[in-house]
Amino acid sequence: IVDAYRQSTQGSEVLHLRAEQALAGGNSRQVSYWSPHPIAIASADGAHLTDVDGRRYIDFTNNYTSLVHGHAYPPILETVDRQIKNGTVWSAQNEHQIDLAELLVERIPAIDKVRFTNSGTEASNLALSIARAVTKRHKILMSRFGYHGSLTETETGSFNHDYPATTYLGEYNNAESFENILEHHGEEIAAVFLEPVLGSAGIIAADREFLLRVKEAAHKAGALFILDEVVTFRLHEGGRQKALGIEADLTMLGKLIGGGFPVGAVGGPDDLMDVFQSSDLRTYHSGTFNGNPVTTAAGVVAVRDLTQKSIDEMEKLAERLKNGLAAAAQKVNLPFCVSHVGSLMNVFFSNEIPQAALMREDQAAMSRFHIAALNQGLFIAGRGLMAMSTIMDEALIDEAIDRAAVAMSDVAAEL
Ligand code: PMP
Repeated sequence: IVDAYRQSTQGSEVLHLRAEQALAGGNSRQVSYWSPHPIAIASADGAHLTDVDGRRYIDFTNNYTSLVHGHAYPPILETVDRQIKNGTVWSAQNEHQIDLAELLVERIPAIDKVRFTNSGTEASNLALSIARAVTKRHKILMSRFGYHGSLTETETGSFNHDYPATTYLGEYNNAESFENILEHHGEEIAAVFLEPVLGSAGIIAADREFLLRVKEAAHKAGALFILDEVVTFRLHEGGRQKALGIEADLTMLGKLIGGGFPVGAVGGPDDLMDVFQSSDLRTYHSGTFNGNPVTTAAGVVAVRDLTQKSIDEMEKLAERLKNGLAAAAQKVNLPFCVSHVGSLMNVFFSNEIPQAALMREDQAAMSRFHIAALNQGLFIAGRGLMAMSTIMDEALIDEAIDRAAVAMSDVAAEL
């Protein structure tokens, strides 16, 4: 499998060797490296990527769930093209960021006002600033294996090692573990951060009951309850919280709401978001590219075109893909299972879904399948994440299943 990969991705290898000379770690994203070398993409269109050797891939990462309408979505291209010709950024108001803010306020019941950043990581930082300003406390509580961006307070939560002195870790879907920490250390904790579905850790859904209990315990301790919907906003028109009938104090957004451009946002009710009112200014937040016209114009189109109907259709495609992959794995006797919520799924080469992807025991098979799938023109995340987009259809899903079946038989032959 690896020999075939090396053979067909020589252009990518040359670029990787060059990258390692000037780029620390050969890239600026940890997830964009894999052994023996990552592929380098030359262009992307719709549901496809083309690498520098001219090979085509069906793209199921959609830039880690952020391209909900695929690559180079024509309505976004049109809007962005028009905007770029009118200037890319200036240090004054632009109407697009107001449009996008209004759209998000309309969609998510818990949000009266939003504020934009350039990444989900910055949204974490902003949510934390608000929580610290409001509570006058410093620490946070999040889930082991949770991911809220590469912020010092949150990044190590996704690894199973020592975490910063600012951070307490609870166990996902175990309300008692959160309640205990809040009971004993509540007076130090500014906010609880939770993903309504663990994303990086393998598409593991939170129970509604778990979220409600943690929210109640957070409030009892005087801490804010923050839902990180950077990934999960794609699961329902009003985000996962609307689907579950839960309201967060602060909601973090990112990824798809920038229409393929760098973005993040924090939203909440007036009483919390008013820390930014010019008459109040309890906390400071600025950024040269925050709410810029290109990102927000693209974001308006991306959010507008993510209707409940398209969300439901993506879910059906995911179901079809999941069943097809399971049947293909069974044919070649590979242990296989899929964690799945709406348009998101994660594959595992084991009989049971692990508690989190970071605790998986199928790493050898997973890594081999990742490369074998690339050999067959199927681009998935190295940890098995697959995300649908609104421009995919049944024929494309069936083609992906056929390609995956060949990759699985290659893996079965080598194991
Ligand atoms: N929160 C969640 C749930 C995420 O999955 C991510 C990124 N994968 C982030 C925050 C951070 O977003 P960004 O990569 O834009 O900084």
